[in-house]
Amino acid sequence: NYDAVALGEYLIDFTPQGLSDAGQPVFERNPGGAPVNVVAAMAKLGMKTGFIGKVGNDPFGRYLRQALLQQGVSDSGLVASDEAHTTMAFIHLDSHGERSFHFSRKPGADQLLREDEVNLAMLEGTRVFHFGSISMTADPSYTATIKSVQKAKEKGALISYDPNWRPSLWEDEQHAREAIQAGLNLADLVKISQEEVIFLTGQGDIEIASKQLMERYSIQLLLVTAGSIGSFYRMNDWWGKVDSYSVHTVDTTGAGDGFLGAFLYQVLMLGKPLQVWSEDELCSALRFANAAGALATTRKGAIPSLGTIEEIGALMRSGNV
Ligand code: ATP
Repeated sequence: NYDAVALGEYLIDFTPQGLSDAGQPVFERNPGGAPVNVVAAMAKLGMKTGFIGKVGNDPFGRYLRQALLQQGVSDSGLVASDEAHTTMAFIHLDSHGERSFHFSRKPGADQLLREDEVNLAMLEGTRVFHFGSISMTADPSYTATIKSVQKAKEKGALISYDPNWRPSLWEDEQHAREAIQAGLNLADLVKISQEEVIFLTGQGDIEIASKQLMERYSIQLLLVTAGSIGSFYRMNDWWGKVDSYSVHTVDTTGAGDGFLGAFLYQVLMLGKPLQVWSEDELCSALRFANAAGALATTRKGAIPSLGTIEEIGALMRSGNV
C-alpha cells in the first residue's frame, strides 16, 4: 500500500545552462512533470509513493525511470511505449527566474497512456491520489486519468488536484476549461494559482472567485498559491492567508509542487479527514507547505530543490516571514 500515488505527464525538461564555446545556448536534461514532483517531494519527507504514467521505450524514457527510482518513488505504474518518444519540453527563464514552456509533443508518450495500462493495485491501495490537467489535454490519457481518479476515489483515497493550466498545450480555451472542470468535479483538495482562479471564474477578486469555485464543485479544501506572498485557503466557512518565508529566490521551478507535496505530507501525518481539521491545524500545515515552497525557490531545478524535513524545519525556525 502507498501513502500517495500520482498520475500524469512525465517528460524531459531541457533547462537553459548558458552558452557553449560556439556561443550557442546549452540545455540540460532534467526530469519534468508536476505530478511526479509532488510525489517526489513526499518521498523526500519519508512517505511511500508511486507514479503512474508513460514514457518512450528510448534512452530518455530509461533515464526518467532511473530518476524516479532515485527519488524513492515506485516505478510499478510507469509504462514504456513503442509508439511514441518520451515527451520533451524546452524551458526559457526570464531575468526574474519566471519560466515559459515550449513543448515538443503531439503526441508524446505521456499522452498515450491507456486506461487498460493503469496499474489498478496502485489505485486501490493508496491514501492519497494526485493528478493534474496536462494528462487531460487529449485521449487516451484523458480517459485513463478520469477513470483512475474515479477508481481511487471509490476506494476511499483523498483526491488531490492541481489544474496546472499551460495555455500552449490546449487546442483552445473552451476545451481547457471543460477538461479542467472535469477534474474539479472529482477533487477533494485543489491547489490552484491566482491566474488559474481568474481563468476559471472570470472573477479578479480571489476571495469571491474561490467561493464560487467551492460552491460550483464539491471541493473540501481550496489552496490558492501566490508566490512570495504565501498561500490563501478556503475550507468550511474559513477564508484566510498564511504568509510565506522570506528567502533568496533563484529559480521558482517546482515551488508549487514542493508546496503541495509538503501539504499532503501534513495531511497524512495528521491522519484524520479534512472535515474534522481545525483552522489552526490547517494554518500550521500551510506554514510547513509555504516553507517547502519557499525553499524550493532557493535552488535550481524542480527535484533537486525539494526540501528535507530538517531543511524545511530550519527555515521555519528562522522565523523569516
Ligand atoms: P508552479 O509555478 O510551480 O506551477 P505555483 O505557481 O502554484 O506553482 P508558487 O505560488 O510559485 O506556485 O509557489 C507555491 C508556494 O511556495 C507559494 O504559495 C509560497 O508559499 C511559496 N513560494 C513560492 N515562491 C516563493 C518566494 N519567492 N518566496 C517565498 N515563498 C515562495
